[in-house]
Amino acid sequence: MSKIIKDFLKNHKVLTLILASFIILGLSKLMGGSTSEAEATVIGRNVVVKSASTLPEVKAENINLSNSVVTQQGVTTASSLTVRSGAGANYSCVGSMKKGTNVTLQGKINNFYKITYGGKTRYIGVQYVKIIDPYSRSIPVLAYHSITYSKGNSICLPLVNFKEQMKYLKDNGYHTITLSDLYKYRTRQKTLPEKSVVLTFDDGYKNNYIDMFPVLKKYNFKATIFVISSFVDKNSKFLTSKQLVEMDKYGIEIDAHTVKHENLITLSKDKQLQTVTQSKKDIEKILNKKINFFSYPYGGYNKSAIEVVKKAGYTMAVTTDAGWESKNNNVLILPRVDISSSRYMNSFKSRVSNPNYKSLGL
Ligand SMILES: [Zn+2]
Repeated sequence: MSKIIKDFLKNHKVLTLILASFIILGLSKLMGGSTSEAEATVIGRNVVVKSASTLPEVKAENINLSNSVVTQQGVTTASSLTVRSGAGANYSCVGSMKKGTNVTLQGKINNFYKITYGGKTRYIGVQYVKIIDPYSRSIPVLAYHSITYSKGNSICLPLVNFKEQMKYLKDNGYHTITLSDLYKYRTRQKTLPEKSVVLTFDDGYKNNYIDMFPVLKKYNFKATIFVISSFVDKNSKFLTSKQLVEMDKYGIEIDAHTVKHENLITLSKDKQLQTVTQSKKDIEKILNKKINFFSYPYGGYNKSAIEVVKKAGYTMAVTTDAGWESKNNNVLILPRVDISSSRYMNSFKSRVSNPNYKSLGL
């Protein structure tokens, strides 16, 4: 291309685009064909596309046909939805999708969503897809305590059972996420993979390091441990600061569970504030980082406890109320799924797969 033309194109980008669009559209019309391919070409390179109301505004470069970065989840609503090779009704049909199929939408061109189908970039009509709010899912936050055998003790789960549970999660495609991931999800900053689950451990028993930690490492799993700050380095049954630092480095989150495992509902508001603030400071000092999450000892909370947890600077807190968390929960009193003594795999499977596990009596 000559320098003059190059300079002209550089200095008159918008004008060139408009001209190019008219030329392509005109040629296409003259040839009697559909305009969709030509439009897609122009769109793909230059123009900001007016987005569908449910999609975030999609800039042209984001729907570059080979490199899409904007995605949303949808579900198909037509009984046999035609999948096409291009974004237009005249493109060839390359397959069909059953009603209720989950699809990842990678952008929108004309009235078509771009998808991956059979490993290739394909298109389906927008009118046959219902957008799913990616932040509407409920997540099971599992609550463990001590990983050891102790007859009749409801907070102790034997290591052999714990291993079996973790293997099940791995073999069945579960993703262990941290509470930070969950918080980002609830505040719509980050989406989560299907089958996300949070592993939490209350109290900070030494066996969390000796027995549980190697299992997590084996599967590359993440978890959160809520420690009683005055027990660290003081009580031989509980974790040391060295162990906490090592696990924190690996990616296990260490969070607060008061100073002395006080039941907050038995304390005055001043005392509540004192223990939730001090335990936060204690752990922050050990790990040299900000602590954001809290677990209520005995699951005990009341109005003032929630207020002080917030005032102390925690952004999320968990209880022992039973159930999966959901977007309808107050993030300062999230329910959890108790697994402490859940030795039967039937019960475990139900708890991690069914938000209504309680109704099954499992
Ligand atoms: Zn506890």
